Amino acid sequence: MARVAIVTGGTRGIGEAISLALKEMGFTVVANYGGNDAKAAEFTARTGIPAYKWDVGDHQACIDGCARVEAEVGPIDVVVNNAGVTRDGVLHKMSFDDWNDVMRINLGGCFNMAKATFGGMRERRWGRIVNIGSVNGQAGQYGQVNYAAAKSGIHGFTKALAQEGAKFGVTVNAIAPGYIDTDMVAAVPAPVLEKIVAKIPVGRLGQASEIARGVAFLCSENAAFVTGSTMSINGGQHMY
Ligand code: NDP
Repeated sequence: MARVAIVTGGTRGIGEAISLALKEMGFTVVANYGGNDAKAAEFTARTGIPAYKWDVGDHQACIDGCARVEAEVGPIDVVVNNAGVTRDGVLHKMSFDDWNDVMRINLGGCFNMAKATFGGMRERRWGRIVNIGSVNGQAGQYGQVNYAAAKSGIHGFTKALAQEGAKFGVTVNAIAPGYIDTDMVAAVPAPVLEKIVAKIPVGRLGQASEIARGVAFLCSENAAFVTGSTMSINGGQHMY
């Protein structure tokens, strides 16, 4: 029977490309999303991939949501922690809510989803967790102390959990995307984006499918010896 994979924020942007890539590999894919019902319905109608709505920053919602997926679809063997938000602003203008939302969803979501699924993966002696970090968690970014801290935290979380999963056949890795052509990047003002693209050696934004291919590799049998690593997919913007 096909293994079940869940992709948080899996109905649009990078997450949508990841959902499709994992489906193409033969996984039974489930996509989680946070609030955009219209997009989720369109995604499910087009792809046949079921979409489950809950806030990954809500611990109990993740426990309950994953239990529901396991009851309706099957044991979850693959988790891609992709859901993420930005609440940009320089520190002296950033509210505590802007800090807390980003930490709660981007970093807390990884903890919540791992808590809901890691035990089952350990018991079944096989699992894949892929966390989506960011180049801005590696290099920092003006106006993003919240986002850079959360994404940097994801890289530490990945390395620590990888050590706990290794002897149970559960690998835990991260991907640090550079600037990818999605709604999130469309929100960056055009003059700022032009300056960013000028600093990318490859000379363009990345495509969501280019991140999805990295995730697909990390979820494959071929990646059994890869754990605790961060794959940078950023057009050479930051060489870590
Ligand atoms: P988008 O803004 O296009 O999509 C975000 C996705 O996350 C949506 O599906 C959204 O659901 C979901 N989401 C947001 N908040 C929650 C929540 N609380 N609970 C559940 N789901 C939620 O983002 P991208 O596709 O651009 O980014 C995907 C990931 O990649 C993020 O973690 C981002 O930080 C990271 N990243 C993106 C880069 C880029 O250049 N685009 C660069 C580096 C990293 P809904 O549709 O319901 O709103």
